[in-house]
Amino acid sequence: MITSKLPHVGTTIFTRMSALAAGCGALNLSQGFPDFDAPQSLREAMARHVMAGHNQYAPMAGVMQLREQICAQLGLHRNITANPDTEITVVPGATEGIFCAVMACVRPGDEVIMFDPSYDSYQPSVELAGGRAVHVPLRPGTFALDRERLEAAVSPRTRLVMVNSPHNPSGSTLSREDLIFLQALVERHNLLVISDEVYEHLVFDGRRHHSALEFEGLRARSFVLFSFGKTFSVTGWKTGYCVAPPALTTELRKIHQFVCFVAVTPVQLAVADFMQAEPGYPATLAAFYQHKRDLFCKALQGSRFSFAPSAGTYFQLLDYSAISDEPDIALCELWTRQHGIASIPISVFYETPPTQHYLRFCFAKSDPVLVAAAERLCEI
Ligand code: PMP
Ligand code: GLN
Repeated sequence: MITSKLPHVGTTIFTRMSALAAGCGALNLSQGFPDFDAPQSLREAMARHVMAGHNQYAPMAGVMQLREQICAQLGLHRNITANPDTEITVVPGATEGIFCAVMACVRPGDEVIMFDPSYDSYQPSVELAGGRAVHVPLRPGTFALDRERLEAAVSPRTRLVMVNSPHNPSGSTLSREDLIFLQALVERHNLLVISDEVYEHLVFDGRRHHSALEFEGLRARSFVLFSFGKTFSVTGWKTGYCVAPPALTTELRKIHQFVCFVAVTPVQLAVADFMQAEPGYPATLAAFYQHKRDLFCKALQGSRFSFAPSAGTYFQLLDYSAISDEPDIALCELWTRQHGIASIPISVFYETPPTQHYLRFCFAKSDPVLVAAAERLCEI
């Protein structure tokens, strides 16, 4: 009756692992979301706007107060100027923004370079646009960009490169030199870029996030995606934004208006209020999450896992090769049931599964949960 357009795709690993964790009563360090609440004033602003009757459609590109706040914050945190009218589009989650950007760029037969492990929505979005995903592995162990392999992957059919920094699931970050290299490459081959920067504020140990927006030649060819879900601990509000030059924004909006049309109105108003009242809030996140990363890593010191502390995001990879040879998916399910601790297997983010054995743990959790999770892991 229906022939699947995505025959190899099932329900996402995040949904499956969270359901398994709930079913087993396991500590859920699998799907990436905080187990603590968003700032009270943000939640109150949302309630206020709902009760004040701001419950009808927003303008297609987003509420103007919010787009202006986004531009103010780009100036404050990155020293970047952007035009709220022509360069900013509020989207109902970065996922939708990425999908629309892919649809705007990719035609049947086009090739899209992505780096494995790659976020799960990228490849299906490319396939639905009729394109072909070309997977370039990040360097084993460090998950750094392999510039030679990137260069070698470019063909006359390449249309788009998708990058993600800070990187989910590995926690690695792109360096300034990586972005300069990418800029030269996309200029030379006339390519477009999707830069997924949803974890922009979560970089640790004094590192600085390098945005595609900071490099003129890159910015001119990039859709750059951000998510309020990550920054303000409201993943369930599904709101983010895309920064792109006017010509790219025009094409993005043509698609966005027929996928979702708009993002949710009271969410946009609440986020705009919060950004105006607390412009310094994003700058507090790195220390907040670095504390959580360090707590988790320290508590794991007596375990049989090996790991390098995550450089960014709220994910920590643990290498279990000293414990088991089992494939990561089976092991993840087993440990959720047997040890009451749920994580994410990272082989699902690869075209060719890696030889190393890693599981991903989300440390956006309250301190007692992180300590309890580490205790369970130390017993394995
Ligand atoms: N990209 C990456 C790398 C992510 O980890 C996520 C979220 N979890 C998204 C995009 C999607 O963000 P949103 O929830 O705003 O759609
Ligand atoms: N991005 C989140 C993660 O990596 C999950 C989002 C989702 O469930 N789609 O865990």
